[in-house]
Amino acid sequence: MPTSPRRGTRIAHVGIAVRALDEMRSFYRDVLGMPEVPLDDADGARIAGLAAGESLVELLEPEQPESPIARFIEKRGPGIHHICFAVDDLDAALARCRDAGLRLIDETPRIGAEGKRIAFLHPSATGGVLVELTED
Ligand code: ZN
Repeated sequence: MPTSPRRGTRIAHVGIAVRALDEMRSFYRDVLGMPEVPLDDADGARIAGLAAGESLVELLEPEQPESPIARFIEKRGPGIHHICFAVDDLDAALARCRDAGLRLIDETPRIGAEGKRIAFLHPSATGGVLVELTED
C-alpha cells in the first residue's frame, strides 16, 4: 500500500505530438520560460519534458515511422495527443475502469517515459481523448 498522503487525481502531463522537437521546445523553454526536465524516449518517440508547475508538457517527436506518434501526425497533424492523470493508486483506478466496462489499451501497467508505471485507456471509452493514467 502507498504510504504517501493521498493527493487526489491531478494532471501529470499533456502529451503534444510535434514534427520537430527542437523547434517547439524553444517556444515552451525560451518564450514561456518553462524549465526542461530530462525524460527517456518511449514508444518510438523522442520526448522532451517542460515543467508547468507540478505538471509537464511532453513534446513527442516520432523517431520511428511506424510509431504511434508518427501515425497520429500522419492522420491528424501535430497537436495535443493525450492527457495523463496521476492517481493515488493506479491498480485501483485501472480496476475501476475495467469494472465500468471501459476499453483499455494497457490491461496492466507498464513503465513510461518518466520511469513511472502508466496505462492508457482507449479514446473510444473517453469521448475521443487519449487518456493515460500514472501514479507518483
Ligand atoms: Zn504521456
